[in-house]
Amino acid sequence: MTNKRAEFLEKLRALQQEFVHSLVERLAQLKNYEQRLVQQWNPEDLQQFYISIHTLAGSSATFSFNRLSQSAKRLEEKISPFLQSEAPPSVVQQQSIKTAFLYLENLLDTIITHSEEPYLVVDEDLCAIVDSIQQEEQTDDNKLILLIEDDTVLAHSIAEQIQAFGYRVNVLHDSLAIKQCLLQEMPCALIVDIILPEGNKAGAEAIKKIRGDYKGILPNNVPIIFISCRVDVEARLAAVKAGGSAYLAKPLDIGNLIEWLDKLVNRQAEEPYQVLIVDDDKEVARHHALILENAGFLTVICNEPTQVLKQMENGNTDLVLMDLYMPGYRGNELASVIRQIDAYAAVPIVYLSAEHSSELQVQALLQGGDDFLIKPIRAETLVRIVAYRAMRFRKLRNLMSKDGLTGLYNHRHIKEQIRNEVSRAGREESSVSVAMFDVDFFKQVNDTYGHGIGDQVLKNMSRFLVDRVRKTDLVGRYGGEEFVVVFPHTSVENAATICEKLRSDFEKVLHFYQGGSFSVTFSCGIASYPVFDDPQLLADAADKALYASKNNGRNQVTVAGL
Ligand code: GH3
Ligand code: MG
Ligand code: MG
Repeated sequence: MTNKRAEFLEKLRALQQEFVHSLVERLAQLKNYEQRLVQQWNPEDLQQFYISIHTLAGSSATFSFNRLSQSAKRLEEKISPFLQSEAPPSVVQQQSIKTAFLYLENLLDTIITHSEEPYLVVDEDLCAIVDSIQQEEQTDDNKLILLIEDDTVLAHSIAEQIQAFGYRVNVLHDSLAIKQCLLQEMPCALIVDIILPEGNKAGAEAIKKIRGDYKGILPNNVPIIFISCRVDVEARLAAVKAGGSAYLAKPLDIGNLIEWLDKLVNRQAEEPYQVLIVDDDKEVARHHALILENAGFLTVICNEPTQVLKQMENGNTDLVLMDLYMPGYRGNELASVIRQIDAYAAVPIVYLSAEHSSELQVQALLQGGDDFLIKPIRAETLVRIVAYRAMRFRKLRNLMSKDGLTGLYNHRHIKEQIRNEVSRAGREESSVSVAMFDVDFFKQVNDTYGHGIGDQVLKNMSRFLVDRVRKTDLVGRYGGEEFVVVFPHTSVENAATICEKLRSDFEKVLHFYQGGSFSVTFSCGIASYPVFDDPQLLADAADKALYASKNNGRNQVTVAGL
């Protein structure tokens, strides 16, 4: 058994133990309601009694106490008709309820007194999920690229370009030393010229040979990008046979090369989905959280229904997993509350309940839910449905908030982010800086090289910004050739240092066209909170500073209010 699996099962067992401990209190509560009902049948206690039993039916099934769950369900069925009726049960009906309750009580007593015994049914689904994420994660600093290119000028130029995007590069000019180089340090990708001094397919053949002869030296999951001025089928086939992931024709479009590298090296791995679990039953909530976390999700637990909006405030919720019955609240009512807020109108809500009545399920779905899952749910099903819904939501959100050309946040979304970050900085008494960037003389780029190359420059610029700022910084396309970066928790001085470095590095980036390459510069303006303490003022101040940079001769950074 893998360590991770053992650890996961251990956590599940611990949770199950906690559930068993919680039964003491649950039983006391049930007895209390039951006695009050025997003394005097009344709708308030009946409602509480019903909810406690319903919750127990769901949670016990979740923790594999099936007999307990079934007996709770039988009791639930016996009392549910009286929830709607004015009349109390007849003597015979009362007796039948009493019998079902005694049975449940006995069962609870037995489980509580034998709580040290392991009950956990090891679910193969769970183990499969844990094992599937047991892959090695590539660390962010392992970004070495091995470049094999005999044209020394081109090699130097490619290396410089790639380095500007945060990779390290080793350069070889022929295929002879590839093996030694791989043994020294494993790169995260290779870029290989097809034609080398050894022959006109030597690059592809050398890689094929190394892969064939020494598997360990160059594992299959290390991607290879072939580059060549040969565009014939024979050369392309050689690349395929050598296990190439991409084939880029020369003259190289560096933006495209970087895009391939990022994609293959998986540096732009998606942020994990964040699931908000709303369930008053603490043990059940944690059980579901554990399953989801082991499948790679982030989870936030909300045991107190009134806190649900507060938990969603940060705007990172990709899905709400909602219990249906909670004291004082129904999940479907909470869903309606969530739906009243425009920003959450599309966040998927998945009910997780022991409710079997299809009528109630439909009603809950009509009130803003997307799916209805019945407790206990198979771990695999839970993970699949949550992943599917969250993925759909992310796609939709991306369509709504991202710019089509660059994939950056669009104007509307980044303005919203500036507002969020300013109010957060206000709450946390910290700072936030906003930098606006505008490409210098961009119209000339379009006029000289054509609109397509202009687009490519905008893509290069956006990738450059994304690669060079922190993960927590937000990058947006403000307009045509104007970009914005929001730096949370960053003073204006630090932002100025970062942007000055960006400026001096960006002017070195080459943009390619059929006949050669060129470089462009940008002007930048920075403003920060709390000097400008309103989101609109802040954006305007950064914009003004940008235009000061333009007026002072471009290719420079200006700080507002200095
Ligand atoms: P300045 O240094 O003063 O900023 O000069 P500029 O030429 O960069 O600025 P100007 O605002 O005069 O021209 C911007 C040009 O950007 C005009 C517009 O056609 C072009 N543009 C806007 N959006 C896009 C786009 O998505 N793709 C391309 N290729 N060009 C765009
Ligand atoms: Mg411009
Ligand atoms: Mg402009």
